[in-house]
Amino acid sequence: MKQLADGVWHLNTFPIPHSINAYLVGSVLVDAGTRHSTKRILRALDAHQVSAHALTHAHPDHQGASHAVCTRLGVPYWVPEADVAAAEDPSLIGDRQPSHPIARFYARIFTGPAHPVDRRLREGDEVGGFAVLDTPGHSAGHVSYWRETDRVLILGDVLNNMDVLTGIPGLREPKPYLTPDPDRNRASIRRLGELEPRLVLFGHGAPLRETKKFVDFCARVPEPGSAAGG
Ligand SMILES: [Zn+2]
Repeated sequence: MKQLADGVWHLNTFPIPHSINAYLVGSVLVDAGTRHSTKRILRALDAHQVSAHALTHAHPDHQGASHAVCTRLGVPYWVPEADVAAAEDPSLIGDRQPSHPIARFYARIFTGPAHPVDRRLREGDEVGGFAVLDTPGHSAGHVSYWRETDRVLILGDVLNNMDVLTGIPGLREPKPYLTPDPDRNRASIRRLGELEPRLVLFGHGAPLRETKKFVDFCARVPEPGSAAGG
């Protein structure tokens, strides 16, 4: 694991670096890759103490190893309130996605088993020294984690810092066929841009320390209902 900020470490959950990320925040594991990620995550965590596992959202490439990790480490499972039903019944994950062959393919190859949720995360809750922010759109319950003291933001899939199909680096909105409500997600993007973070950590793509680039990108995202392209 690589340390990125005070008490924040990055984990690769997939063989291609930064393609599917998880983070250790204090002693809380944020996200858990795909159902094939268990060994890689446990190996990366190594001697670090883990007290809980939290999600940014219940999608197959974030909850895949959640059941295995919580069971093996004996830690509670913390999930954003509006994604709890999907975490406890992963058949809902596919049902809630747009009807698209790639969404169905990801759901089939990556989705992990159900696991009972111990804590429902809501706006303003504290997780590993970070505040929970409601940032819905990419999933109904999607949350981000924000630490104002040093302006570190973990934003899951509100934005990607790479193309998730080609691997080409760069800021972009998540694929519409993996995002049930792109307009709501755009409102979440604008909210996060206004925070002016100093370090942005993504579900997909490398960490970003160029604040201006991030803020400008977020400000340029069209208002919901606008005809302009992103
Ligand atoms: Zn994702």
